[in-house]
Amino acid sequence: MRKVFVLGLDGATFDLIGPWIDSGELPNLRRIADEGVRADLASLWPPLTPVAWPSFYMGKNPGKHGLYGYKVRQKGSYEELPVSAADRKGRTLFEHVGDQGGKVAVLSVPMTYPASPVNGVMVTCIFTPKLDDIWQTDCAYPPEFKEEMKRVIGTFKIHPDHQYRKGNIPDLLADYRETLKQRIDLCEHVIRTKEWDLAITVLNETDHIQHQVWHVHDPKHHDHDPEEFRKHGHVIKEFWKEVDRDVGRLAAALPPDATFMILSDHGHGPIYRWVHLNNMLAKKGLIRFKRGPLSLLKRAAFSLGFTPGNVYRLLLRLGVGGKKKGGGMEGGGGAGKLARRVFLSEDDIDWSRTRAYATGHMGQINVNLKGREPQGTVSKSEIPALRKEIEAALAEITDDGHPVIDRLVPREELFHGETLALASDFFVMTKDPSHQALGGASFISNRVVEKSYGNSATHRLNGIFLMKGPGVKRGVRIDPLRIQDLASHIMWRMGLKVPADFDGTISSGPYDDGLLDREPPQTLPLSEIKAGAGRERPLTDDEIAKMKENLKKLGYVD
Ligand SMILES: [Zn+2]
Repeated sequence: MRKVFVLGLDGATFDLIGPWIDSGELPNLRRIADEGVRADLASLWPPLTPVAWPSFYMGKNPGKHGLYGYKVRQKGSYEELPVSAADRKGRTLFEHVGDQGGKVAVLSVPMTYPASPVNGVMVTCIFTPKLDDIWQTDCAYPPEFKEEMKRVIGTFKIHPDHQYRKGNIPDLLADYRETLKQRIDLCEHVIRTKEWDLAITVLNETDHIQHQVWHVHDPKHHDHDPEEFRKHGHVIKEFWKEVDRDVGRLAAALPPDATFMILSDHGHGPIYRWVHLNNMLAKKGLIRFKRGPLSLLKRAAFSLGFTPGNVYRLLLRLGVGGKKKGGGMEGGGGAGKLARRVFLSEDDIDWSRTRAYATGHMGQINVNLKGREPQGTVSKSEIPALRKEIEAALAEITDDGHPVIDRLVPREELFHGETLALASDFFVMTKDPSHQALGGASFISNRVVEKSYGNSATHRLNGIFLMKGPGVKRGVRIDPLRIQDLASHIMWRMGLKVPADFDGTISSGPYDDGLLDREPPQTLPLSEIKAGAGRERPLTDDEIAKMKENLKKLGYVD
């Protein structure tokens, strides 16, 4: 079996690192590009970590694998809970490789908690719940591997704890370096000492640092500060140089005939404006509020500017509290239970009169559908008319006189497969990706469009792809590939059968002329695909609570 090693660089974009590769400042990535191929990699909508990585390692669109975001709507409720590997439908690339006799090493790959049996070893990802004793979690398979982890990395940090605030860049960087080192140490140990045919590790620190400090180097960002730029203007590049050294370290540890594939799950770019979709939906009467005295009072205060966002900014001006990593979702000042009691929030929504609402932070819109939502008001036949109403409302959103929204896309245009019903009904696309359409951070501001705060960058659709190895062209830039194609490429390069339910196609672009004809891919028929793992257990209440905490810390959800 031919060996394939995959390095995932979360959120990597050629928009940022392309020039550094070309200039030779990232020499190890440059070497892979020179000895192999490079291409843009198209992610899927919504370009979110827990959606994109599974699309990669299941070779499928979310319509089939069932993961659409950080949280999933609970049946018969408006509540959303963190997703885990238990929500994943179907078989993963690692399981397929094992089914066909290959050994795997799966390290820090998102949406693998709780660890599930593989033919090899698995260590779980940034979404592992940080229980008080981390070794009590299902963070490794086989469980005995935890002892080996302890010997190699000491303690398992899972993800960095620091969030950016002015003046703390050195501490933040030290924290990121520590988790990065853990991941690389563990990966190098595994690829040097274990038997494997497919090894994968994902580094998330590349994504974290870009989210947090993009504004430091971007003079167009309103949080950019020339003084901070003078001191730390190259912080992201310096971190990438460290990642590049690690790429060299891992490359040196690989057998010379292994294929080396590098990909990101999505790209990255600045956020300049937040677009609060629910404020527009409320303005147009699509969202209605309760008529009790408390809600009326909160609405009056809201219209006067008593919002979590304004209070947060006031605290910042007074020098109290740090800049939170927010992704826009946390409401800055901390939209927790207490905040919901004080400020206008989703608790004040009168669901019995509401027809559509936004959620998440990638433009997701749900219809308050009869028979699905607990207090649904819209019947299926009314959806086309409602869509027109929502589109008309969105068309009124402007920034500096210019329309902000490109279009409203129904889920059927984005996904196909048996889990389509789990997706939000519509997705709002902004004309400019630096306008981030928010739903989840309901009513943190009383404006529809405002300057962003918290995270200064977020995800884009264009990720990166680099590959070198036997049969791969050398020094060539090829046409973009799609993230859901790569699992098919990997199975084919390993000499294994490609499962018939994968969405991916294998293009000849990366390979020597005629290779695809000489070695045509073999298909694993549907009848031979084992039933989806179905072994993953649901999360415990303690795990759910810790995961919610982590997601908040990571800046993903409120
Ligand atoms: Zn990501």
